[in-house]
Amino acid sequence: MPRMADCLFCRIVAGDVPASVVRETERTVVFRDIAPQARTHLLVVPREHHQDAAALAGADPGLLAALVTDAAQAAAVDGIDRSGYRLVFNTGPDSGQTVFHVHLHVLGGAPLGHFGEPDFGEHRRPSGG
Ligand code: AMP
Repeated sequence: MPRMADCLFCRIVAGDVPASVVRETERTVVFRDIAPQARTHLLVVPREHHQDAAALAGADPGLLAALVTDAAQAAAVDGIDRSGYRLVFNTGPDSGQTVFHVHLHVLGGAPLGHFGEPDFGEHRRPSGG
């Protein structure tokens, strides 16, 4: 799916909405998240519109791999490749996905907190249960 007129990230890729772009390739764009959740918070998106990571994996696994490669290269440019970073694909309502154009979050720049459901330990079943 090449482009959706009402998709925010399609509009950023097209240059119709401004963004702080840190890296571009033929197939992908990397820009800074407008509401960063870490000292470095980048978003890696394909130029083509795909709803989420699973849809992209089905349609074009090579492009999904390119997002990870570009995330690693953008992390190196931002100087967090050695200190480490977290890659996140939010998918669907429980994840909090708000933009339905697949994007890979790159978070780092300082030690990150744990992830997952807050207080999940209280709900965890005993092992084997
Ligand atoms: P998600 O919640 O996984 O769908 O992530 C969407 C991300 O897009 C959020 O972290 C937002 O802060 C970010 N975002 C929304 N609008 C913009 C924008 N115009 N430029 C850069 N990042 C944005």
